[in-house]
Amino acid sequence: MASSPESAPLRNDHSERRSFLKIAGISTATAALGLPGWRLAYAAALTKEKREKLTPDDIIALMKKGNERFRLGKESPHDYLAQQKASAKGQYPAAIILSCVDSRAPAETIMDLGIGDTFNARVAGNIANDDILGSMEFACKVAGAKVVLVMGHTACGAIKGAIDNVQLGNLTGLLAKIRPAVEATDYQGDRSAKNYGFVDAVARTNVQLTVIDIHRRSPVLADLETSGALKIAGAMYNLETGGVDFFS
Ligand SMILES: [Zn+2]
Repeated sequence: MASSPESAPLRNDHSERRSFLKIAGISTATAALGLPGWRLAYAAALTKEKREKLTPDDIIALMKKGNERFRLGKESPHDYLAQQKASAKGQYPAAIILSCVDSRAPAETIMDLGIGDTFNARVAGNIANDDILGSMEFACKVAGAKVVLVMGHTACGAIKGAIDNVQLGNLTGLLAKIRPAVEATDYQGDRSAKNYGFVDAVARTNVQLTVIDIHRRSPVLADLETSGALKIAGAMYNLETGGVDFFS
């Protein structure tokens, strides 16, 4: 990629940044270049100019770095009031994240993101229905986000419910949208909701099928990706380790 996000000033506190880069095994020589970048979750919100310099791959790399900071307990200093004030007149989010409603998987927190950094859609089992696809099209085609990230997580209750064919009010219809992932998961062994290995394998398949579904059902997003302006990607968040595993 043209401008490595690893060389971008993710923080204003250079000493802290250097120590993080050292931990992450990243050369401080490239960091010292001081190339413009995405000061995630620091004082100011993401601006149009900063976003324009980032490619979709840069943004995914920055999300990975944010998750590393989270896992290391070295999150950026969050000045939410400053971010709120800086973003009040306009927003330039870099991505839209589709994730589960699970209380333990808040995308912004686990990737050390701040106000104005990303759009967020949350629904149990992170499936893409028409309204979510419309939200993604707004986020990317109208508002300029460059990444769609579908993020599932381990030990997901919605996935367990789909495996068990739970019938309950409006939940029944939602779980039916996850069922194809249960059927499509190639897994030798106990295919029950009691087996976390199977549950997590289905969750991973569900992310992959949702990414395919987005391509298939949204020509708007598929065309943006073909043009290079957008990347549609999947990831799994591990509740035990705090790590986000990005596919590909
Ligand atoms: Zn879940």
